[in-house]
Amino acid sequence: MKPETRPAGIYVHIPFCVKKCPYCDFYSIIDHSLVKEFVNALTNEMAMYSDIGLLFDTLYIGGGTPSVLESTEIHRIIKKAFSLFQMTSDPEITIEVNPGTVTPESLKSFRQSGINRINIGIQSFHDGNLKFLGRIHSAEEGETAIKRARTAGFTNIGLDLISGIPGQTGKSWLTDLETALRFEPEHLSCYMLTYESGTRMHKDLKNRKFSSLSESLAVSMFGSTGDFLEKNGYIQYEISNFARSEEKKSRHNIKYWSFIPYIGFGPSAHSFYGKRRSWNRHNVSDYIKKIESGTPPVEGKETLTREQQIIEAIFLGLRQKSGIDISFFNDKFNVKFGDIFREIISDLSKRELIVICDDKCALTRKGMVLLDSICAEFVCKELDIEKA
Ligand code: SF4
Repeated sequence: MKPETRPAGIYVHIPFCVKKCPYCDFYSIIDHSLVKEFVNALTNEMAMYSDIGLLFDTLYIGGGTPSVLESTEIHRIIKKAFSLFQMTSDPEITIEVNPGTVTPESLKSFRQSGINRINIGIQSFHDGNLKFLGRIHSAEEGETAIKRARTAGFTNIGLDLISGIPGQTGKSWLTDLETALRFEPEHLSCYMLTYESGTRMHKDLKNRKFSSLSESLAVSMFGSTGDFLEKNGYIQYEISNFARSEEKKSRHNIKYWSFIPYIGFGPSAHSFYGKRRSWNRHNVSDYIKKIESGTPPVEGKETLTREQQIIEAIFLGLRQKSGIDISFFNDKFNVKFGDIFREIISDLSKRELIVICDDKCALTRKGMVLLDSICAEFVCKELDIEKA
């Protein structure tokens, strides 16, 4: 089935957090005075798209920290989405939560609202790491949140973990993974700490307030993650994402990597539909004002050129364990992948960085560590061809 004809996804961005983590570059604020107006605006924004004519099979409530909202507000958002949009009979409904913001009651209430997947921002099971990351919760609170989510009836729990934290060792990272597995999560997202420009951590690093972990150690942690989790029965399906079975892969996130349409609501949310990408205003007050004046809060939009689509197909394809679907690529762009990239494929195959198998071009574990530079090689070659 073509990506554009597959069921689409709904993303809802809740832009509130208890505290800003110094490494985070997502749009979120700690002033909660506009929460009520925001929820009204959000449901009104959804209503502006009620005639979109798409079938949806995922609803992802992310942020920010959605769990800072009252569970009645979360319930209202879900109810609104279901009343406005056509949903399949078995949608995946996810909420992201911070362990410092959930109670047994709120978790139970989320479950009763129809949420069937919960993603818990654990980040680490070591208090020292959590302190460095500026998280509001302790390791113990993280463990308690997981247990409470199970008790509340969640059978699809995802945990987020971060590696590459200064002071972390290969051994302490493996302990984090082992601790996570004790809870038998259905899904794990293991991200490497990055220092995004504009964040406080980036500034502190530049001002030498701390030193980052050596690149070789960070890379070796990344490599050991895949080996360890695969040995323990997890399927790696994207560079940072692992699932305990095919059904537990994040149906929603797969849309981002597969050209499947998704519509984003809330400040800074992105949408992708057809060849068009758009994004909302980042500022909550501006967002609310726009909607109150009856205007969609879209800040920008672009129609992807053929060149942008090719670049995106390479980046998104190589991020996924399954790799670039060569027939799909050839049909979509009317080219011969094997011919265009013959030299690169031969070179990267010899260096054991990619494999071509079953009509797919995929990175090896060794290649995944070098994702950015390998993508850049493909893209430079493609740009040469487009210019020729
Ligand atoms: S809780 Fe999550 S969204 Fe909020 S600041 Fe921290 S990392 Fe960012």
